[in-house]
Amino acid sequence: MSRNEGLTASGWSGMWAASVCLLLTSYVFANPSCNPGKPDMLNVHLVCHTHDDVGWLKTVDQYYYGSKNGIQMAGVQYVLDSVVQELIKDPLKKFIYVESAFFFRWWDNQPEEIQMAVKDLVSGGQLEFINGGWCMNDEAAAHYNAIIDQMTLGLVKLNNTFGEAARPTVAWQIDPFGHSREQASLFAQMGFEGLFFGRLDHDDKSTRWANKTMEMVWKGSENLGRSAWLFTGVLPNGYSPPRGFCFDILCRDEPIMDDPRLHDYNVDEKVESFLKVAKDQAKAYVTNNIVMTMGMDFHYLNAHAWYKNLDKLIRYVNEQQANGSKVNVFYSTPSCYLKTLHDANITWPTKTDDFFPYASGNHSYWTGYFTSRPTLKGYVRQTNNFLQAVKQVASLMGLGQDPRLEKLKEAMGVLQHHDAVSGTAKQHVTDDYSERLAQGVTESFAMIKETYRKLQQTTLMEATADPVFCPLMNISSCPPSEKSSGFIVTLYNPLARPREYHVRVPVPGGVGYKVTDYQGHVVQAQLVPIPESVLATPGRNSSAKYDLVFIANDIPPLGFLQFHIKRTANSRIHKEQMSRVHVPNGGGVITIMKGNLAVGVDQKTGLLKSLGVVTPDGIKMVKVNQTFLWYAGMSGNNSNEDNRASGAYIFRPHGTFAQDIAEKANITIVEGPVVAEIHQVWTPWVSQVIRVYKGQTLLEMEWLIGPIPVEDGVGKEIVNRVVWPDIITGNNFYTDANGREILQRIKNFRPTWKLHNVEPVASNYYPVNSRLILHSGPNFHAAILNDRSQGGTSLDHGHMELMVHRRLLHDDAFGVGEALNETAFGDGLVVRGKHYLIHSDFVTSDCDFGCLHRSLGEQLLLQPVTAFTPTSITAHTWKNAFNNKWTGLRTSLPPNVHLLTLEPWTDGTLLLRLEHMYEAHESANHSDPVTVSLQGLLADWKIVDAKETTLSGNLLKKDENRYSWNVESSQYMNHVSRNQQKNGNKENDLSITLNPMEIRTFILTVTKTSS
Ligand SMILES: [Zn+2]
Repeated sequence: MSRNEGLTASGWSGMWAASVCLLLTSYVFANPSCNPGKPDMLNVHLVCHTHDDVGWLKTVDQYYYGSKNGIQMAGVQYVLDSVVQELIKDPLKKFIYVESAFFFRWWDNQPEEIQMAVKDLVSGGQLEFINGGWCMNDEAAAHYNAIIDQMTLGLVKLNNTFGEAARPTVAWQIDPFGHSREQASLFAQMGFEGLFFGRLDHDDKSTRWANKTMEMVWKGSENLGRSAWLFTGVLPNGYSPPRGFCFDILCRDEPIMDDPRLHDYNVDEKVESFLKVAKDQAKAYVTNNIVMTMGMDFHYLNAHAWYKNLDKLIRYVNEQQANGSKVNVFYSTPSCYLKTLHDANITWPTKTDDFFPYASGNHSYWTGYFTSRPTLKGYVRQTNNFLQAVKQVASLMGLGQDPRLEKLKEAMGVLQHHDAVSGTAKQHVTDDYSERLAQGVTESFAMIKETYRKLQQTTLMEATADPVFCPLMNISSCPPSEKSSGFIVTLYNPLARPREYHVRVPVPGGVGYKVTDYQGHVVQAQLVPIPESVLATPGRNSSAKYDLVFIANDIPPLGFLQFHIKRTANSRIHKEQMSRVHVPNGGGVITIMKGNLAVGVDQKTGLLKSLGVVTPDGIKMVKVNQTFLWYAGMSGNNSNEDNRASGAYIFRPHGTFAQDIAEKANITIVEGPVVAEIHQVWTPWVSQVIRVYKGQTLLEMEWLIGPIPVEDGVGKEIVNRVVWPDIITGNNFYTDANGREILQRIKNFRPTWKLHNVEPVASNYYPVNSRLILHSGPNFHAAILNDRSQGGTSLDHGHMELMVHRRLLHDDAFGVGEALNETAFGDGLVVRGKHYLIHSDFVTSDCDFGCLHRSLGEQLLLQPVTAFTPTSITAHTWKNAFNNKWTGLRTSLPPNVHLLTLEPWTDGTLLLRLEHMYEAHESANHSDPVTVSLQGLLADWKIVDAKETTLSGNLLKKDENRYSWNVESSQYMNHVSRNQQKNGNKENDLSITLNPMEIRTFILTVTKTSS
């Protein structure tokens, strides 16, 4: 999406005083055709570009073909057709292209002669790929796992098609609405030399403009040192051309009319205006090179219009050099521009925090999209879980690059776009996004299905139906478990270590269920009534009234474990499995215990009061309150900042206080051998189940919100607020960046510029991809973890606030043109999701607080994939005839190593990423460097060679040779030296060391060890 910020500055500064030193460089440089500029002039790099959203107002396919041009005039196929012809005609012209999702749609349909011509354009540096991911991903709501995947998908495809000449060296995030430090770190680890973007807070921008700090070195990690440094530049004008110089057929600026015999001759005026723009812009930048973005959304549909006018502009501006002008303008690319900055060999300012939140005006905080479309955000996170499992299974089974898996990867790539997972696309486009995920999941589930069948090694397969995946488990609906009297549950564990999991199987109830494990033992199970509010979910078509809950112990790493479940008429079993259900009616706090956790609930209000642990000395409780509240979304006609409405992008509450949904919640307590639950109902549209499972040290809160009523004409934004009344947190709280490193947030404060705050709630919202943490001195810590990206904050001592749902009645006028009013089945959309609460009293001698939230975070990210197989065979036959437990790993990974990726690569190779999942000072036991041997890691495959690559898998690590930058010494951070980290990992040495937060990527050559 786009919006021209139109920041202009006036006056001409004496930038020539800055001493500039041009040096020859020994670095290999990707673009061979850069115009070097003139050392004694202001060199203006014109970057011809098109910004092609991978879905926004139209679907990705509509944008590609140029259909539905009544919605928006845009057709990417014509852009590429047109640009390529212009580039072929003139070797001086250049163009950059960003989104691989579009490029490869086009490429695959080109005749060979065009493909050959394009290869020449790429190798000659005329057509330069920039960013190169499948899309230009969102930075607030995208998880690092998905970011790495989508970047890898695009970059490797470019590499396979064009070779090293096409490897993008500049990341180009011109439109995302705020920028994450983790994104910078990931780009650096992918081998990018620099990053340019367009959007940052308006006050931050004017400060940087005035201080000449528009360009900097961003220190992307507190753990990784220089390997996470990324040169970062703020573009002068968003990503628009300067005012008056938009020459696209979609623009209304005057062309350059250069025949002096004609009435409208305007060359002198245009040249003068351009020189002024260039000199004004140069004031904000420190070298004698500046960049201008000549393009906008879906520009270059008719490339000739742009190039014809730019040719004239270049000619007439440069002709003025004969009259003493010191401005030199030419076609360039971001990598050519970046090279001049590097060659200037000057010292750059640094940045250690991030660019969240982004405000484009005093009342326009782009913090609503952190939560917008929560069901889509949840679906994207779940699908990431599923994708990782399918990639692993395909690798372990030697399935290679199956087209079904490719389809799922591409769907997930599209969904990371900055109008997709962000929740800022139109409704019909969002529906298309969801359909892509659903198709990808359905088709690739077939690969898992085939694998299960293959691994069963039984002749009794005809007695079992096909395994089924139940995508509606979030509303406790699953046809095979509801309808079959007998079925097998198969759990695939995508973690590289054994895990325990609480399985919930929707069943009609009324009878007992015999659950048998792979050794033939009967497993304890509990029938838990499904809350009324879930049963009443609009569109739910299920006979399940209960969840059958049992614990699956020791699910093997990268492996599966099965259970046999059979309805039984045995009334004793049924009675034992039925939960005790009661409605408390006394006063005071009732304490519910399960395992060594205890939960206190106020019987009068039905609200959470305390959460603690059972110790040998008794129960140790910590006070904590939790409830749901709502902000009234501001309505407005957006005629000016004061009238800005809350919408898909913007969060703008009416007033500064959230209101109670209801003073009290009605509660029902459900207890049994496996789980204790407190069912709370505030209103028919806000309810929650609080759970404590046997053997788990966390509080699970599964909330159900919606349909949000709007009959009163007021849009509503619902938050979950947890308050620890006795702890002192000052203005500090902590949020993760894209699910990885944790950043400190300080209420009403920005580390590098002065905040003029007239939106005290919205301005303190930050993206929470996985967790929000509070520290109260050295002794008490608490974290809330989520199951999808949300906006979150801490507005007072001990407060944790996460926004869970939004239903709004006004557009916020940033382009999408629709109010964020999601409906389904004729009413407001219902969202069901989970939060998890932990605090530092839960620690054990093995697992400190850092370990608690990191290991929980990993378990939530990659949960077991569950399949259901109806069967008529008995548990006894099943146990003896089936292979019911299997693992693809020979050894588990250490507790601080996360297996981030295992996926089929080229024939006979796999891509492996291992990650140290702790920060340097996060855990006493787990933050140390750790060494892992790849030798013997996989059960059925011998790893004969491991070649290390950059994070995106498109460049061998040994060939990486990134620019180094001189920076001002930092007062904020003491960086770990990276140098020693590279030692000790020789070629073909299969023993690898990981330092805190380090991800290492390998292409493994493998051979089958057994038949
Ligand atoms: Zn965009």
